[in-house]
Amino acid sequence: MLDFDTCDAARYRRDPAFDGKFFTGVRTTMIYCRPVCPVKQPLSKNVTYYPSAAAAEQAGYRPCLRCRPETAPFSPAWNGTGATVARALRLIEDGALDGGSVEHLAERLGIGARQLSRLFRRHVGASPTQTAATLRMQRAKRLLNDTGLSMTEIAFLAGFSSLRRFNAAFRELYGRPPSAVNRR
Ligand SMILES: [Zn+2]
Repeated sequence: MLDFDTCDAARYRRDPAFDGKFFTGVRTTMIYCRPVCPVKQPLSKNVTYYPSAAAAEQAGYRPCLRCRPETAPFSPAWNGTGATVARALRLIEDGALDGGSVEHLAERLGIGARQLSRLFRRHVGASPTQTAATLRMQRAKRLLNDTGLSMTEIAFLAGFSSLRRFNAAFRELYGRPPSAVNRR
């Protein structure tokens, strides 16, 4: 993970080179943002930096509706991230944990589930399951904003097992139903 001062300086510059490399949790609003967010900058004393969107969500933050963290570049090669974590992230992004188990994923990578969870805690800042939940919702959110697909189509394309689960997960993360989001 990048250090606080590096992230803070990049955030104040709104530096696009850091987009996807860290996320800013704003404790006064409990919203998290990309470094390039156009919204007024929060004070440094009110922010925490996270190495991934999943880590920010695991800490209880909601994605910003302005800068849309789900549109940040997918960055499986964070500083210090090993090949195993990068491979795991690609498999999760491809849906390995949408119905599949962490144990099975770990087996595919040739390591134990406990070791996989440890690697994720260290490099991603979130569990494999939280990471999968974040990536699944990010897929759904992009489809919601950028297509005219029905809610049912979005839920299944994104990897949710049912429309009901998608609705519940969306409401929990965003504090509103998916129908309240502006479509294209
Ligand atoms: Zn934002």
